[in-house]
Amino acid sequence: MRFAICMSTVLLTLLASAPGCVRIPSSTVDRTPERATRLPSASPVPRALVRPRRATPPTHAAPAPAFAYAYRAPRSPDLQPIFERVRDVDLLRALPEVQAIDGMFVLPQRLRYVTAECGEFGAFYRPEGEVVLCYETLRTLYERGQALQRRFDLADDYPLRYTRANLRFIVMHETGHALVHLLDLPVTGRQEDAVDQLAAILMLRFADVAETPAEVIDNLRMAANWMLSDSTGVYNLDAYADEHALGEQRYFNLQCLIYGTDPPAFAGMIDAGDLTAARAARCEREMRQAARAWLRLLLPYLAPGYEAYQEEAARYIGQPGG
Ligand SMILES: [Zn+2]
Repeated sequence: MRFAICMSTVLLTLLASAPGCVRIPSSTVDRTPERATRLPSASPVPRALVRPRRATPPTHAAPAPAFAYAYRAPRSPDLQPIFERVRDVDLLRALPEVQAIDGMFVLPQRLRYVTAECGEFGAFYRPEGEVVLCYETLRTLYERGQALQRRFDLADDYPLRYTRANLRFIVMHETGHALVHLLDLPVTGRQEDAVDQLAAILMLRFADVAETPAEVIDNLRMAANWMLSDSTGVYNLDAYADEHALGEQRYFNLQCLIYGTDPPAFAGMIDAGDLTAARAARCEREMRQAARAWLRLLLPYLAPGYEAYQEEAARYIGQPGG
């Protein structure tokens, strides 16, 4: 998943007035993966971190502006059915993680979530305060889900589950860019890695109440799988110079966060080649460090009414070893 590079065509299509190329996704040609795909394997139920549950709902209306949602009609007739479907189900507003954080933070301006035709695969954050998910992305994700379903003889609903899991990760990744920009959060190191971490943390914490911990982990594993969709093992200077890590590195980073939620439960990942033993030894600490860092960054911006999160976060930050 390379939401990378400055894509002038996307800009021309959607960002005619956007200043420069800030946090713009690349188009990603969905090549047939030539290397590890590593998908089907039962997820154990982890003990730690993955606890889909709601904190106490806000006791009064927060002053933070609620998110806005828009579904822009595409020009291409072949994208029309996707547009109608996501509009009719109010897809963006219905995403569990979006629902959970809508109104949670006091942002200086309203954040808008939008679906639109982009001309190619992508998703991005516009500095004007818009997270844009392209219809082409939904189509490409579904097609890859179908390919994986055929390849591994998976359940009929797999393509939809794959699409939904990935779009949740993508939207949370772009939300991370939005929070960094709107709240002027400090970031050292690669912002792309940081918001990948945030996406994983939000998906672990704010899964749908109906989802089991194993399903939550499977969602993240499907997001990790997508990161291998461009994998060739051979890269040019553009790839090495990109603001994103290589897809394989993002894959292992996410695998590490999954493993880090509960190393004993995920010990099989090492045998399966999903993670090296050397990296795995660091993952519990990596996961905790990432979660603590994001909590510390975001806590000052919690809206009134979310004190329960404040207390929960304080307890987590207070844990030793981070
Ligand atoms: Zn990004």
